[in-house]
Amino acid sequence: MTRPTSRSLAQSNAHFRRAVDRLPLGVSSSFRYWGDDRTIYVERGKGGRLWDVDGNEYVDYRLGYGPAILGYADDRVDAAARAGMEVGGVFALSTRRELAVAERIAKMVPSVELVRFSNSGTEAVMAALRLARAYTGREAYVLVEGSYHGLFDAAMWMANVADWQPGQGDPAKVPYSRGIPQTVGALAHLTPMNDSERLEDLFRRHGDRLAAMLIEPIQGNCCAISARPEFVRLARALCDRHGVLLIVDEVKTGFRVAKGGVQALIGVRPDISTFAKAMANGYQIAAIGGRAEVMRTFRPGGAAHGGTYTAHSVALAAAEKTLEILDETPALADIAAYGERLKAGIGAILDRRGIVHSFSGHPAMFGLFFAAAPPDNYRDWKRSDYSFYDALARRLHDAGVICEPDSREPWFVCAAHDAACLADTLQGFEAALDQTLDLVEAEALA
Ligand code: PMP
Repeated sequence: MTRPTSRSLAQSNAHFRRAVDRLPLGVSSSFRYWGDDRTIYVERGKGGRLWDVDGNEYVDYRLGYGPAILGYADDRVDAAARAGMEVGGVFALSTRRELAVAERIAKMVPSVELVRFSNSGTEAVMAALRLARAYTGREAYVLVEGSYHGLFDAAMWMANVADWQPGQGDPAKVPYSRGIPQTVGALAHLTPMNDSERLEDLFRRHGDRLAAMLIEPIQGNCCAISARPEFVRLARALCDRHGVLLIVDEVKTGFRVAKGGVQALIGVRPDISTFAKAMANGYQIAAIGGRAEVMRTFRPGGAAHGGTYTAHSVALAAAEKTLEILDETPALADIAAYGERLKAGIGAILDRRGIVHSFSGHPAMFGLFFAAAPPDNYRDWKRSDYSFYDALARRLHDAGVICEPDSREPWFVCAAHDAACLADTLQGFEAALDQTLDLVEAEALA
């Protein structure tokens, strides 16, 4: 396949015009809509690349928001999934493989003593919060500003940093969308990442009414902003003091930044953890895991949990194979090494042009900022020139490199990204950057 120098989206555009008559925004998730004339439709993906319906080839750093940890259509995982299909799907009964996958997760993540499966990150976090409420008998909970925990109403409260200016007090707590009842949000307490004093104050005032604190120590939907280890350890200590459960949401970090997730890097033991994306290389499965005493609250008369498609034989078989590979091969070390090479390459290109920048997160999922230091919390993100990032992202797509158009989404690396992907990416990055700089200069002159 040759790499087009300037891409045509004629087929995607034509498909969009038909699709929009039947699918809202022409897509199945609003984030997949990139504008009437820039929304692309995928023909197929393989390894670290994907091809759109116009035949344009891209090196992909979204990877479906993280799931394709080994690369698209990994032959080993797909063969396992086909064998899983032979089992027969779902039965409203359990199969033996559930235990095998649970054993593997418990081996990789020591805080996980018991496991329940779900189908998506949203479902897993929703179940984790219900579990914490059932176990503690309390209803309120803490969310860290800039976090994303899925599409259920209780998680969809955020700090409105977009309409806020530094020095104005706290950003307002607002729902992510219309249709989310205000009464739900009354139970959510937002607190800024890495602000120990604010966290202590929150627990002092509300600690005895809190069921849980939810945290993503590397924020997978907010620039890979990272918690300082001492902040997470403080959260652990405050939770212990007030009888609150610590939920570490590893939906993006789990089985990616380390075999044991971000909790292994920080050295903190959550009561409950949630996993999804990297667990089965793109097949639909998620997990809730944690302390045995807490997890046993999943029982009749305790916290309800289940679901028709839970532990589907295809997804379960894919999870078994994916986790085996991540646990028993150097895949995660290879991913991190590629991420370091990619950051170094991008950094060198930016340095040559004197462009101030920094990286956040982990080499397997990192944020790129046009600021001297990465943000310490979501409010800080305002300091970085995200409009330049947004313009660059569009040019990168034209140059055959896919990253999220929104600077809050990190770049994801997979085990199939190879030397050819790196060379194509850096070539594309350089071209896209120069085009963006020309554009900015032209706008300044206009
Ligand atoms: N938690 C985190 C940290 C996530 O990044 C996401 C998805 N981006 C979710 C929960 C929700 O997962 P899903 O999209 O599978 O429902």
